[in-house]
Amino acid sequence: MEDGWEDSDSKEENNTCYKSIRCLNPKFEELRYEDDNNETATSTEQLDVEDSVRRCIQVLKHNIDVDPNSPILHRDSHLQFLKKGLHHLPNSMEILDSSRAWLCYWILHSLEILNEPIPEETKSQVIGFLSLCQHENGGFGGGPGQDPHLAPTYAAINALCILRSREAYDVINRAKLLKFLFSLKNRDGSFKMHEGSESDIRGVYCALSVAMLTSLWSQELIKNTAHWVSRCQTYEGGFGGVPDMEAHGGYTFCGLASLVLLKEGNLINVHKLLRWLVNRQTRYEGGFQGRTNKLVDSCYSFWQGGCFPLVHRLLNMTDPESLNMSFWLFNQKALQEYLLICCQTPHGGLIDKPGKTKDYYHTCYALSGLSVAQHFHNGLKRNDYIVGHHENELIPTHPIYNICVPSAIQAIQYFQNLSYPGTPEGTQSSDDDGEL
Ligand SMILES: [Zn+2]
Repeated sequence: MEDGWEDSDSKEENNTCYKSIRCLNPKFEELRYEDDNNETATSTEQLDVEDSVRRCIQVLKHNIDVDPNSPILHRDSHLQFLKKGLHHLPNSMEILDSSRAWLCYWILHSLEILNEPIPEETKSQVIGFLSLCQHENGGFGGGPGQDPHLAPTYAAINALCILRSREAYDVINRAKLLKFLFSLKNRDGSFKMHEGSESDIRGVYCALSVAMLTSLWSQELIKNTAHWVSRCQTYEGGFGGVPDMEAHGGYTFCGLASLVLLKEGNLINVHKLLRWLVNRQTRYEGGFQGRTNKLVDSCYSFWQGGCFPLVHRLLNMTDPESLNMSFWLFNQKALQEYLLICCQTPHGGLIDKPGKTKDYYHTCYALSGLSVAQHFHNGLKRNDYIVGHHENELIPTHPIYNICVPSAIQAIQYFQNLSYPGTPEGTQSSDDDGEL
C-alpha cells in the first residue's frame, strides 16, 4: 500500500501482510491540518478532532509496550454489545422505534462479519419479528404496524438474507413486494421512499438491491433508472441525493452500487468520482469524511470505502491498465488504524469519532468498512491486509448489498429457483449470481 513511507518491519505470511503501524511513524505529525493562520470554526473543529485522535495514539503507544499485537479488535466486547441489542434495547433508544428493522440488520450483519453464529431460537424470534413488520401491501415498515417504506424494506430483506434459511426467505411475499416496488417507481426512473414521499437516490438503491436479491428484477422495473442516477453525479464527482444536490458519501454509495447493478457505469465519469472519493479519506485521522470539508466519521468507512471495490470493477472493464491489481485505490491501512485505534469503546460497540457514544449503526458500518479495508478481491486475486493482531480479521462483505458474500449468493440462488410472480411482459431474469 502506498502511503509514502517504508514499512521497515513488514513481513508476508500466507498472503497476509502484517505491517508496521502508520501512526507511530515519527513523520506522522507532519500530516496535521494547517490553517495558514486563518482560524475558522471549521478549522478549530478539525484540529480538535485531530487532538482527540492524537490522544488515542498515545494510548496505543502504551498498549503496544504491553502487547506488541496491538491494536486489537475487542471482539468479545462487541459481541456482547450486539447480542444484548438483539434481545433488549434501553429506554434511551426509544427514538429508534421506527428503525427496528434496521436494528435487526445492523446487529445481524455485525455478527456475521464477526463470524459469530446466531442460535436457532434467536433466528426464529427475529424472523417472527420481521414478519410482523411486513405490511399487507408487500413493503416493510420500521416496526410492526408501521407504514411501509423502502429503507426498512431494504434493511428487513438484508436481515432475512443474513439468516440464510427457508423460513427466513419465505417471510417475503414476493408478489406483493413486486407491486410495492412498482407503486413507488416514477416515470423518470427514480423511486419514492414511500407513498406520497420524496424521491431520491436511496430509493433507487434500496429498490434495486431488494429486487436483485429476491429475483424480482425486470427491464420494466429499471426503465430510465440508470439515466436518472447518472444525473445525480455532481461537478465534484460524487453523487447527490437528487440531480443538482451536493455530493455526499451515502448518496454516492447508493448511486454507484445502483449503476453497477444496472451494468451502466459507462454513464458517469469514473475518474472524477475516484478523485472525489480518494480526497474524502482524511490525511491525519485515516478515516473518511462524508462531504468536502467535513469531519471524519466511522460510518463513511463503508459508504465511501465500500465504493472502492465498485470503482475497481468499473475501471477493470474500461481501463484495466490504470489499476493496481493488488490493492483498492485508498489507504487501507490508514482506515484500519482509525477504526481500531480511535473508534472502539472498551465495553463494546464502535463510535463515529473519539468522544461520541456507541450505537448499532456506527458499529455496523465501521465493521463493514474495516472488512473492506482488510480484503482486496478482484474476482481473480485476493490479498488480505490485517492491521494489528491476525485475529482482527473479519469476514468479507459483499460490496453491493453489504451482507456477507455467502448470504447474498444463497439468497439469490434460492429466489432464482422460484417463478417470477408478475406478468411476463417486460421481464428479464437476472444473471447476477452474487459473485463479486
Ligand atoms: Zn456517522
